[in-house]
Amino acid sequence: MKTALNTVIFLLITASCFSQDKLLQSNIKYLTEKVQNYLDKEKTLSGYYSISELGIKMYASVSDKVKDKPEFFLEWKHLPDYQAAFRNCNQYTFDIYKTGKYNLTIPCLRVGRGELIDYIYPPIENRLKGKKIAIDPGHIAHNFEMGDLEKKHIIIKGDSLNGITDSIEIAEGMLTYATAILLKEKLEAEGAIVFLTRTADKCAFGKTYQQWKKDDLKTAVDSLYKIGELKAWQKDHFNSSKVKDRDIFRVVFRDLELAKRVELINNFKPDYTVVIHYNVDETNLDWNKTTNKNYNMCFVGGAFMKNDLSTKEKRFEFLRLLITDDLEKSIAISSSVMKSFESELKVPTATARDAKYIIEGCLPTEANGVYCRNLQLPRYVHSPIVYGETLYQDNINECKLLSAETDKTKNKRVQQVADAYFKGILNFATTK
Ligand SMILES: [Zn+2]
Repeated sequence: MKTALNTVIFLLITASCFSQDKLLQSNIKYLTEKVQNYLDKEKTLSGYYSISELGIKMYASVSDKVKDKPEFFLEWKHLPDYQAAFRNCNQYTFDIYKTGKYNLTIPCLRVGRGELIDYIYPPIENRLKGKKIAIDPGHIAHNFEMGDLEKKHIIIKGDSLNGITDSIEIAEGMLTYATAILLKEKLEAEGAIVFLTRTADKCAFGKTYQQWKKDDLKTAVDSLYKIGELKAWQKDHFNSSKVKDRDIFRVVFRDLELAKRVELINNFKPDYTVVIHYNVDETNLDWNKTTNKNYNMCFVGGAFMKNDLSTKEKRFEFLRLLITDDLEKSIAISSSVMKSFESELKVPTATARDAKYIIEGCLPTEANGVYCRNLQLPRYVHSPIVYGETLYQDNINECKLLSAETDKTKNKRVQQVADAYFKGILNFATTK
């Protein structure tokens, strides 16, 4: 797929040996198949776009398509320029989209790389020299109390039936952060410039959840009300003293904080983004049982559902995934990381049969264990992305291993996971 897109772009620019028509038809075919294979999960989105001899058009609604009133029109001759804009001046690409047409008057300056941060550790081998890598440690818990609030907290009571002698507690946010820190050190030792979206106890807003609530909840509620995301009664509810922390977290904080992570990552302009999560058995709704299941999987963007093109912003991201090679590169790097997960962790790769959400919410890619899924980060992050879901925390063996050590950077299993990410990324970056 990746090679095919490169070929398409290459041919588009240097078409001298091929007939223009043949070239155009192969572009149309490639992008049409890309939508069908990776982006349109339920085969319901054809009313929002068209790919034809004229170019690529995005529509706000099916009736706009009938009237041929596109909200954005990209002629084939402008495709290479718009693709380059995603690489070189990402911040303008949505502005361009909003004007309705590829617009050459919007400034697009090439931004020099590597000028932002100096790494502290001297590189040993430099195999990733100058590569900018963003790491997002999933969730925010730095203790079990916060893990409870975000419902990412495993508590398994000691019980002879489940083979656990002492009770086990794990907060996923503590595992992801420790993994991120260990991975960061390894990548920096190879010369990479690494950015983390949060610290151990502070979320992407640069403060704890409790501090955010004190400082920013009211403004957040007001602005969500203004754009119609909250109704009047919800606004009153969230401004009252009776509101539960869990509701604030779930309805107001969580998506805003994810949007902040996206903003930080896109400002950093990474070459790759790594999102770190640990999985659980989907049937263990309360995170209080053990399971025999254990799988690894990775997600990339795509698999938009019937109602997933409801805003201009979402339709713009659909177009970005279609016309840039972010998706092809995401699949390639995720595939490399998946192979490393399997060999380093000795945990099998998930097939589509292994979880309901893979069948219902994902599209398979040509890489084992790599699935298109329309999650917030893969949708909005403008770089190739690896969204890893390693091993099941509630697996009978894994939960025992993961519960060891209060400082999770000292946990052997977490160290193995960080190593698996590192080897997968390095392999991809050095064998391309
Ligand atoms: Zn998670």
